[in-house]
Amino acid sequence: MIETTPPPLVGEPLALDLVNTLATRPDGVPVDLLSEPASAAGWLAAQHGLGRLAAVHPGDLNLAALRTLRTHVADCVEAARHSTAPGPAALAALNDAVRAAPAYAQLSWQDGTLIRRTERSGVPGRDLLAELAEAAVALVTDPAVVRVRGCEGAQCRLLFLPAHPQRRWCSPATCGNRARVARHYQRRHG
Ligand SMILES: [Zn+2]
Repeated sequence: MIETTPPPLVGEPLALDLVNTLATRPDGVPVDLLSEPASAAGWLAAQHGLGRLAAVHPGDLNLAALRTLRTHVADCVEAARHSTAPGPAALAALNDAVRAAPAYAQLSWQDGTLIRRTERSGVPGRDLLAELAEAAVALVTDPAVVRVRGCEGAQCRLLFLPAHPQRRWCSPATCGNRARVARHYQRRHG
């Protein structure tokens, strides 16, 4: 059974947040936030960097396409952080997603100021896939991608980009705390 209610890790680069929608709970239960429209919409609503795309109607979400893109983004991130070649299918998928709804700048005059707005095709689901793919392109070509790390928590597979090299956990409150408790238990019980 696939769960949809983990403590999600958000606030990492968007591409990592996307990969992290597929996770494993501490009890080993797999979690997929993109398995249902409601949980996918909830995850999107937490993505403030997505602007109006974060409020895409659940009915406009193509969950199968999102999950496929996630697989390819995960492949590219995994390759990039180890400085190896991603699979050709992953490269093609990211390029196709961006090309399906390219971004363009639009200028308008509002309240005495020139405003620059970024637009895409206007098809919500396709725009979202393009935005996510472009975020992945930005991450995997950023030299910082080699610093992306997997949480050291048992079972946990969440990825993060540490601001400090000492960071070992997706969250100190979950995996970090469990490791502390385990260490404490080991000390007391040999
Ligand atoms: Zn973790």
